Amino acid sequence: MDHRALPRLAAPAVAALLAVTTACTGGTVQGRPGASGLRDPYFPKAGNGGYQVEHYALDLDYDPTDGVLHGRAVITARAEQGLSSFNLDLSGLRVEDVSVDGEGARFNRTGNELTVRPSDDLKKGQVFRTEVGYSGRPKALTDADGSKEGWIAGEDGAVGVGEPVGSMTWFPGNHHPSDKASYDITITVPHGYEAVSNGELKSRTEVTGGRTRFAWHNPEPMASYLATAVVGPYKVTTGRTPSGVSLYNAVSPQEAAASERSLARQSEMLEWGSRRFGPYPFGTAGAVVLPAGTLDYALETQTKPVYPGAPEDEALVLHELSHQWFGNSVSPKTWKDMWLNEGFATYAEWLWDEDHGGPTAQAHFDALLTGDTDVDEAADSDWAAFPPADPPGPQDISASPVYQRGAMVLHRIRQEVGDEKFFAMVRGWAADHRHGNASTADFTAYAQEKTGHDLKKVWDVWLYGKDRPK
Ligand SMILES: [Zn+2]
Repeated sequence: MDHRALPRLAAPAVAALLAVTTACTGGTVQGRPGASGLRDPYFPKAGNGGYQVEHYALDLDYDPTDGVLHGRAVITARAEQGLSSFNLDLSGLRVEDVSVDGEGARFNRTGNELTVRPSDDLKKGQVFRTEVGYSGRPKALTDADGSKEGWIAGEDGAVGVGEPVGSMTWFPGNHHPSDKASYDITITVPHGYEAVSNGELKSRTEVTGGRTRFAWHNPEPMASYLATAVVGPYKVTTGRTPSGVSLYNAVSPQEAAASERSLARQSEMLEWGSRRFGPYPFGTAGAVVLPAGTLDYALETQTKPVYPGAPEDEALVLHELSHQWFGNSVSPKTWKDMWLNEGFATYAEWLWDEDHGGPTAQAHFDALLTGDTDVDEAADSDWAAFPPADPPGPQDISASPVYQRGAMVLHRIRQEVGDEKFFAMVRGWAADHRHGNASTADFTAYAQEKTGHDLKKVWDVWLYGKDRPK
């Protein structure tokens, strides 16, 4: 890392002394440090304990010519315990100043942990505002499975993608899916560039220095891994679905022609999803098509999935849109619950096929069992390598069993309970956990209760079983 920050005292010592005196007059409970991680089974240091974020206001300034990001994050959070200090996750970059409720705060950095020591202890239940000024050239991360995430600079622009922990490369935060918050992301870029983020574009303003400021507003709760910021010379088109969801597509010019056919079906896909899974959970939708070669996977970033070049396969668009219900609205409690994201999104592809003259979900299921790649290209994958609810390690959370066998779990439930109960259960699941978090245990309990069936065998064999199911 080239922006190593040393501990420093940002506030005058006198102010700190006064603050201590004030805190003592209360004569009540002393705060203690918030935990530096949430002990996620796969990413134990991700996220932080002692508080929940309510809102992020990120003010970013990015120049693609030198790759330098200037950021100011204002994080409004509620203390869940008395806090003498608390942590934010941040990777790389130089922290310039930190304040809490307008008072300079001491801070230091160890690895990806930014520890903030406010001048006054925070009380349990207190809503407090942390402001962090930072800058530098963000560095992408390489995941355990070899893929890149975080802030990824391309030839003429950049994209921020954060599954599972890459968002800490471009803003400080509580980077674990269990802490969802609303966001306002403002991005200032040189004239001629577009800047795209989650939610709705509230304003686009020409500012001094020949630059343009884009203010994006994402009112619904969002897990930080689903936040995005994209900068580049994109071609923008807008529209609206019959149900009134506004669409915003930003497409790299060289990918525009090849993207047209599948992106034109987004409206139809969202209407279909609303019938199958219940109302679309967000006010906006759309897509960002990156220049080919920027990224090697698509990601369901909230309201605006990013695609690594033209999504010529419409199933990919359908998959990322389905995540808006499963993953983005109903988010995993920990990264062990990833199959709830990917199993549902894969099953949504099967259902889309079934409803549009393609192979039925049963045919997909059978193809995986028999290895028939004519029906399902994933049939030759190692989908039975491990149980979807128990990936061996962080390098496996995006492997085939989480996707294909996750979808097979859902199909096995459908076989047991029949279509009527199955689809009522799926819609109920999306409605009851809308804009929340849920775990595998929550799901298995819900599925049994909602359908009135004992599904223990499905869980034992398909969800948790080590052997290849037959
Ligand atoms: Zn997916």
